[in-house]
Amino acid sequence: MGRAWNFSAGPAALPLAVLERAQRELLDWGGSGSSVMEQSHRGKRFIAMAEQAEADLRELLAVPEDYAVLFLQGGATQHFAQIPMNLAGQGERADYVITGHWSEKAASEAAPYVKVNIAASNRADDYRQVPARDGWQLDPGAAYVHVVANETIHGVEFHDIPTAGDVPVVVDMSSNILSGPLDVGRYGLIYAGAQKNIGPSGLVVMIVRRDLLERAGRPMAKIFRYAAHAAQGSMLNTPNTWGWYLAGLTFEWLKAQGGLAAMAARNEAKAGQLYAAIDGSGGYYRNPIDPASRSRMNVPFTLHDTALDALFLQESEAAGLLALKGHKAVGGMRASLYNAVPPEAVEALVAFMRDFATRHG
Ligand code: PMP
Repeated sequence: MGRAWNFSAGPAALPLAVLERAQRELLDWGGSGSSVMEQSHRGKRFIAMAEQAEADLRELLAVPEDYAVLFLQGGATQHFAQIPMNLAGQGERADYVITGHWSEKAASEAAPYVKVNIAASNRADDYRQVPARDGWQLDPGAAYVHVVANETIHGVEFHDIPTAGDVPVVVDMSSNILSGPLDVGRYGLIYAGAQKNIGPSGLVVMIVRRDLLERAGRPMAKIFRYAAHAAQGSMLNTPNTWGWYLAGLTFEWLKAQGGLAAMAARNEAKAGQLYAAIDGSGGYYRNPIDPASRSRMNVPFTLHDTALDALFLQESEAAGLLALKGHKAVGGMRASLYNAVPPEAVEALVAFMRDFATRHG
């Protein structure tokens, strides 16, 4: 098999142009005689690349000056714990909005460090829609409010992430960062594991309002303190140099695509086409999410007869459509449509789904 259409939820497809460029540069990066992975992160060449990557990300998201951009490790999961360590003092409280698997996990990982208040939850509704902002039970004394912008497993997305007055909103954007323009200034801290819309796993991109870095938090080793990472340009210790480099190539690619407004239009069209195919299948395929909360990035769907699931997966893979198996928590199928998944991939998937339904009606 050559390169197939890849619908993996993460680690996910990377732009072909980025992979080809990395391939070309692998053995001799910019005439340096070695790969980017074999050089010091303190070298001039790496520092210049790292600064350019940050500048491109700032340009793409129009990140205001009073926000720091960090390139960290640990995966989003580590930051579920590290965020309360940094933003909340001993005994303080934080609000969590539950919209699916990842916000549940964020709340449970935070619990050893902060008093977690569940301000809103759609659990009783099987995570079918984001809880309406006017029903959130917010604590005015909370250190922050935590929200997951897009639930990768349940396929539920905030199309307009709410704010919470003076309480900073902390947003896990692991699976939808850079999928469209974002008003960064509305939020206190935005973080994302890289392996969906940015680059390879092992890298976390964080955008944080600088005054929040001044919060005392609690006594902890420097390596856990965001302010220390910010003070050292994310080079407190050896960063994920390969991940940072690939992230930089992706940012450059996004700019060449016309930036985030262009990506938003493309993502809208891709998701719209797939949801239309599901909704127009006469119940052969189903997506349970309230249309107003449907994710543009992760589209879970079931077949009308689960006995056909294995055959669907077998045939789709043979047709060059990869990784459509749904997460075990929800079953069925899931197509992830991140930035690097081109419209042609969605066209191929929709054509396959129609054909499959005709042949196995
Ligand atoms: N948050 C969201 C929204 C995710 O989709 C994931 C991973 N799929 C995580 C957090 C956890 O990321 P990691 O595995 O990098 O810790």
